[in-house]
Amino acid sequence: MDNNKVANRSAEAPLSPSFVASKTTPELEEGPYYKSGSPKKTRLYQKGIPGEPLTLTGYVSDHTGKTIAHAWMDFWQANGNGEYDNSGYTLRGHQYTDETGKYILQTVLPGGYSVRTPHIHVKVRANDDAPVLTTQLFIPGLASNKTDFLYRDDLQIQLKDARKGKTATFNFKLKH
Ligand code: FE
Repeated sequence: MDNNKVANRSAEAPLSPSFVASKTTPELEEGPYYKSGSPKKTRLYQKGIPGEPLTLTGYVSDHTGKTIAHAWMDFWQANGNGEYDNSGYTLRGHQYTDETGKYILQTVLPGGYSVRTPHIHVKVRANDDAPVLTTQLFIPGLASNKTDFLYRDDLQIQLKDARKGKTATFNFKLKH
């Protein structure tokens, strides 16, 4: 095939931006440690928190693949030692996607606890009137994923080494 034919083919291909997830994001249970009223902040990381620094980014889109600006997201998680802050709001925070539907979360890689493999809890809502998606995100390549009763491959973040810590992406696709 010559180069012109390759170019024509790609021009005809349906637009599928890499930031749109192929299927809607599965729900997963809230677990016992959610607290409402988290502070509005994208940077949950603070000096001294156990755990490797992690910057998680991605987009929120609707079921058609259209990105959603100002979608509400509420994250909560354990620190690198598998401990939640249940008296305060350490590693808990909400935020809104920007005009392009993008979010950024600066945090640490969570540790596992009791029978749970490491995970990040999140609630996502397109707007004030929309239903809330509650789910959990998982870290790829951990042996403990295999024995966790809630673990799902399709809720894995895509993890990369960064200069300091890790970067990761996860794109949410909402049903509503
Ligand atoms: Fe948990």
